[in-house]
Amino acid sequence: MTLITADSGDDYSKPLLSTGFAKGLAPERLAARSALAIAESLNAVVRTHTRVGAIDTRAHALRIGEERLDYGELVLATGAAPIAPFDVPEALAGRVMTVNDLDDYRAFHAAVSDLGRPARVAIVGAGLVGCEFANDLLAGGHRVSLVAPEAAPLPRLLPEPLGRALGEAFRDAGMGLHLGAGVVGLQAEGGDALVCLEGGAAVVADLVLLATGLRPRTSLAEAAGLAVSTAGIHTDRTLATSAPDVYALGDVACVEGVNAMYVQPLQASARALARTLAGTPTAVRYGAGRYWSRRRCCRWWRCPPRRHRHAGASRGRRGISPPWPRPRTDV
Ligand SMILES: Cc1cc2nc3c(=O)[nH]c(=O)nc-3n(C[C@H](O)[C@H](O)[C@H](O)COP(=O)(O)OP(=O)(O)OC[C@H]3O[C@@H](n4cnc5c(N)ncnc54)[C@H](O)[C@@H]3O)c2cc1C
Repeated sequence: MTLITADSGDDYSKPLLSTGFAKGLAPERLAARSALAIAESLNAVVRTHTRVGAIDTRAHALRIGEERLDYGELVLATGAAPIAPFDVPEALAGRVMTVNDLDDYRAFHAAVSDLGRPARVAIVGAGLVGCEFANDLLAGGHRVSLVAPEAAPLPRLLPEPLGRALGEAFRDAGMGLHLGAGVVGLQAEGGDALVCLEGGAAVVADLVLLATGLRPRTSLAEAAGLAVSTAGIHTDRTLATSAPDVYALGDVACVEGVNAMYVQPLQASARALARTLAGTPTAVRYGAGRYWSRRRCCRWWRCPPRRHRHAGASRGRRGISPPWPRPRTDV
């Protein structure tokens, strides 16, 4: 088995990226294992800082620069890349950032630390990633403004009344909430970054964190002639793509019309695909999604209905009771 990654290959949990400021963790503490340790434990070749340039599905080969690497079976797990819905002025280079991997987090952490004082951070986007970072930075002692066009945080995960309750908890904890107004652009003003909103208001910040969504990285697959769309590389439930012996999973995969972009479906996919590749074709079943955030100023759960067979995973029965300090609000 050969694992190829464009990044450092460090083994880290992405959801932990939005917990580092509250815990005062340096970025290196978020990496659980090095690429070398992964290679040893999996008895695999791990090629780091290596970008695959092309796939030849007929020849069953990858191109890495001038090199040709043959494969028997290929698994595409190229993830998704952040989307910036507006241009970033040159003058704000290094002050407008996205965090979608450990390297991004290192850069963002360094920019916050370099200020040498609590940072004023404007976060654009109130989805899961924006809210998690807002919570984390606030708990880490920074001044946070959360900006989004929707009326309440987590518009795709929570019904609006619960989103509003979460927003109130954020406000009570000292966060600036600028909801219901889209961003029309960014401007540099002296050492400050201005996030300009519809209606003429602006949020002043040292740093702007864009949490405005992700787009599946489908370009390799598309160039190789695989069936793709803006939702990702199309697969069936065995994660097979339209090309023989090529599979896809994770943020890049659109499995029977759904791209879930969460850890639980990714792990279910990995288990199913492992069985398929070992000789037993296995369809992935996600089960009902259960998401939660157990951050300092508010914790929330989104659970499947009780009648669902996974409803037993409710708090207590599976021991998911909170070991963390009681927050101000539950949703
Ligand atoms: C801050 C943050 C918090 C999150 N919190 C949660 C949470 O609480 N719960 C939850 O369920 N989900 C959460 N998510 C989402 C979850 O982390 C992702 O769904 C998951 O990590 C996606 O994994 P992936 O392997 O598909 O993609 P990635 O982890 O993005 O991996 C993609 C890999 O492909 C490599 N690559 C790309 N192109 C090439 C190429 N051409 N050649 C070689 N290598 C290439 C990259 O280098 C990278 O190693 C969070 C995400 C973020 C960013």
